[in-house]
Amino acid sequence: MRIDEVELRLVRLPYRSPFKTSFAEEREKHAVIVTVRSQGVEGYGEGVMDPFPHYREECIAGAWHLLRNAFVPELVANGCEHPSQLVARWAGWRGNPMAKTALELAVWDCYARQQGVPLRTLLGGTRTEIPVGASLGMNTIPETVENVRRHVEQGYQRIKLKIEPGWDVQLLAAVRAEFPFIELTVDANSAYTLADIGVLREIDQFGLHYIEQPLHWDDMVEHAHLATLLHTNICLDETLTSPARVKAALDLGACSVVNVKVGRVGGLQSVREIHDMCVGLGVPMWCGGMLETGIGRAHNIHLATMPGFVYPGDTASASRTYARDIVEQALEATQGIMPVPEGPGIGVTLDRPFLNEVTEQTEVVRA
Ligand SMILES: [Mg+2]
Repeated sequence: MRIDEVELRLVRLPYRSPFKTSFAEEREKHAVIVTVRSQGVEGYGEGVMDPFPHYREECIAGAWHLLRNAFVPELVANGCEHPSQLVARWAGWRGNPMAKTALELAVWDCYARQQGVPLRTLLGGTRTEIPVGASLGMNTIPETVENVRRHVEQGYQRIKLKIEPGWDVQLLAAVRAEFPFIELTVDANSAYTLADIGVLREIDQFGLHYIEQPLHWDDMVEHAHLATLLHTNICLDETLTSPARVKAALDLGACSVVNVKVGRVGGLQSVREIHDMCVGLGVPMWCGGMLETGIGRAHNIHLATMPGFVYPGDTASASRTYARDIVEQALEATQGIMPVPEGPGIGVTLDRPFLNEVTEQTEVVRA
C-alpha cells in the first residue's frame, strides 16, 4: 500500500477519577494518536508511552522524536505491502517498542479497512466478544471492598487489585472475607524484592489466580527463583518487551502466565509470534491495558479475540476511565463480556470535535 500521509497528535484526556498504582497516581491520559492515510482510507494507532518513564523507559518526547524522524519517514518513503513486515523493517532502530507500535497499529487498521475486513480477521481471531476483568487502583480498604462488590455485580470475570508493601495482606484478607470464590489477582508493578519473601508467602495464601510482576521491572532471574518458592502462578508484565524476552522468561521459568500489551512488545506482529509460542507451550495469555483511549482499547479488543487469550483481560468498559472518549462508539462490557466493534479495521470512528478539543500538538508528514 502507498502511504500518502501520517498525522501525529498528542492528546490529553482527563480520567474520570485518579488511578493509583505502586509507582504513580495518574489523573489524565497523555497519548500519541497516529493516523495513517492511504488512497482515501484512514487507520488509527495509539502510543502508550507516558510523559515520564514510570512504567518502562519510553516517554512521549522520545517516541515523538523517533516517530517524526525515523519510523514515519521510512514508512512514507517505502510504503508497505503488508503490516506484518514493519517490525522487521524497523529492527535496526533498537528497542522503543511503544513508539513503533503506535505507527504499526495505524497501518494494520488502515490495511484491514482497505481489505474491508475487521482487524481480528487478519489476526486469526474467531471470537466476536471477549471476557474482561477489572483492574482496581489503590483506595482505602472499605472503598476497595465496595469497588470489588460493584464490579462483581457488574459481572466482571476477574478482579485485579494493585498492591505494594504495606498495602497487601490486610487488603487481601478484607476482600477474600467478603468474596472467597471470585477470580482474584494482584499486580505489584515491581514493588517487592526477594527480601520481602515473608509477606509474599502470606500473599501466597489467598488463592490468587496469579501474582503479576512482583519483582524488578526488568528482571527474570529473581522471578524464576521466586516461582520455586510460591504456589501462586507468576505473571510477568513489565519484563516482557519482545517475543525473544517472552521465550527467555518461559525457558527460565520466570513466569507461567503471560500478560500481553501490544505497545510493550513492539506491535501486532510481535503479538502474533508470542501468541503462537504460548499456544504451542500451553501457556495462558491475557491482554493487559494501559488505560487506553478508544483507539488503543479497540485494538486490544481485536487482538484479544485470538484463541490463546484464555484469561479475562484488562479491556474493561471505557466509561470506567473516561467521561467522554475520542471515538464515537461506546466500548462497554455487559456482564463481563466486551463485544468486538463491528465493521472494517478496528471498527471505531473518531469523535473529531472532541479529538480536536483534547489535541495539544499535531504534526503531519506527507509523501
Ligand atoms: Mg501490570
